[in-house]
Amino acid sequence: MIHYQTKKWCVDNSVGNERLYPQLEEPAKLLALNEVVAFPTETVYGLGANALSSSAVCKIFEAKGRPSDNPLIIHIAHRKDLDNLVLALPEKAEKLMDAFWPGPLTFILPRKEGIAPEVTAGLDTVGIRMPDHPIALALIEKAGVPIAAPSANRSGRPSPTTAEHVQEDLEGRIAGIVDGGPTGVGVESTVLDVTMDPPMILRPGGVTKEQLESVVGLVLLDPGLMEEEDKPRSPGMKYQHYAPQGEMWIIQEETLEKQQETIRSLIGQAKESGRRVGVLATEETKHNYAEADVVVICGAREDLATVARSLYDALRSFDQQRIDYILAESFPSKGVGLAIMNRLNKAAGHRIYRAEVD
Ligand code: AMP
Ligand code: MG
Repeated sequence: MIHYQTKKWCVDNSVGNERLYPQLEEPAKLLALNEVVAFPTETVYGLGANALSSSAVCKIFEAKGRPSDNPLIIHIAHRKDLDNLVLALPEKAEKLMDAFWPGPLTFILPRKEGIAPEVTAGLDTVGIRMPDHPIALALIEKAGVPIAAPSANRSGRPSPTTAEHVQEDLEGRIAGIVDGGPTGVGVESTVLDVTMDPPMILRPGGVTKEQLESVVGLVLLDPGLMEEEDKPRSPGMKYQHYAPQGEMWIIQEETLEKQQETIRSLIGQAKESGRRVGVLATEETKHNYAEADVVVICGAREDLATVARSLYDALRSFDQQRIDYILAESFPSKGVGLAIMNRLNKAAGHRIYRAEVD
């Protein structure tokens, strides 16, 4: 593959007139010329390309090493951009767009012709969202084309929540990176199939099931999602994802105290066999694992949004510290906790250490 001199543009989105951002002229032009550019969104960093050009979209798959049967999400800056992309917009989708766009919610809709077939991996539907990030919106608008963008990581790795994470994975493989600082939500968008009624969540994410249901009533959860054998409807959810290099286990017990006790005893066993042990813990529990080689603090349990925000950085940091055995606390599967547990499950390759039931 081509070796790129990856360019970097730093954009401070806290100052000035957002829509102008002069630093975005060059990356927007590169996108219009069918090159790939990474940029921040409110969820994670995306790797963008012109969704109408096959040659542009192919560069995404090549840079990431992404399997070609895993479709991409198209990012738009205005609702009217939907007109060229989708055949129909169900009423529930419109209501949800009113409530959550711009934001971390992707809609699966029947697609029109004209979208590069690589974007949809041959499906007759397409995933579309409007990101809630001033840099992302300004960049898409300036590029003047819909932007297909998966997360800007090498396939299988944790998604990037900083420009440094993107660099770690893709330096030399892409035309450029727009650095807009750390992302906010930290886990990807919720993918919602609105071609069926009631709508079905194909991937839990930044907008919760509870939030969706408050607008349109019953919303289903793809039953294949949390199973140990991956049988999801969203093609991408079947792949190993988000994984650190070490062997990772999620510890599930009935109470938090019991969970910590089990983790402590597993640390002891692993140390005896000479492994470098890391624990994924939280502000509330970080003091309980003195014997571990590394304790990574992943937000605070009292506010699961902080856990979501820190999750991928925490997973990456185990690799940086050469940890070969990772014990992760588990979280309640409510609200954004559903997305957190879905990503943890995948990162651990579904290795779950469960409480013994008598
Ligand atoms: P990523 O781009 O890495 O955030 O992943 C996009 C996710 O959206 C993957 O899980 C895809 O399988 C899913 N997705 C995208 N388009 C579709 C579609 N048309 N139907 C079902 N799932 C989709
Ligand atoms: Mg991804």
